[in-house]
Amino acid sequence: MNQDVEKLWELQTVLTALAEREKQLNSKPESFAAVDREWQAANAEMEKLQQQIDVLSKERRRVDGELSDEQELLKKYQGQLMQVKNQQQYAAAWKEIDATRKHVKELEDSALKNMTESEGVQKQLDERKAGHDDLKSRYDAEHESWQGSLGDLRREAEQLRGRANAIESSIPEPLRREFQKIYSQRQKIAVARVVNEACSACRTRIRPALTQKLKRGELVHCEGCHRILFLEKSLEKTPS
Ligand SMILES: [Zn+2]
Repeated sequence: MNQDVEKLWELQTVLTALAEREKQLNSKPESFAAVDREWQAANAEMEKLQQQIDVLSKERRRVDGELSDEQELLKKYQGQLMQVKNQQQYAAAWKEIDATRKHVKELEDSALKNMTESEGVQKQLDERKAGHDDLKSRYDAEHESWQGSLGDLRREAEQLRGRANAIESSIPEPLRREFQKIYSQRQKIAVARVVNEACSACRTRIRPALTQKLKRGELVHCEGCHRILFLEKSLEKTPS
């Protein structure tokens, strides 16, 4: 039995190390997270500027279309002016020409305003793009170094997983099931070391009778947390 408890303790140690690796694998290191935040923000800003440019150029196309329609119309009215037969028709044609010229002027102003605005936004976008290469290379470097460290972690995790499987397969089935039950119910700690005659997981004192059982190699559960207790060999010889 003692040997089995030792195996359970070893399994616990390996699983704890594995859980630590898995936690590291799932979390971005701060060095990468910082540049990642900067990268995401810069991309979002550039996307916003590009969207503004798209909206402005769509508006520009609409204004240009309307402007050329109005200019056609103006030519038509000016042609009509040549064919007027009386003062009344002349005045009416001039009224149309006036209104259309006014509209053309408004559209030209609008196109000019649009162009100025577009240039301003394009300038901001160009400035962003100029700094982007530097940011990109910092991002790539941090990402690569993170991925590199993950490679080591993945290898370690794989080795630990293999080790855990090997230990598990050497433990009798009922004991293994008991371990797994406590492991899943008690924050991934199924086996607790006895330190200074107390359970290291919940600090409950171990009664002398239980310590005797432990020394005989029996399977003993903590009376506080019900975890399996493990007494290290070097600690077995307690001064009497
Ligand atoms: Zn306990």
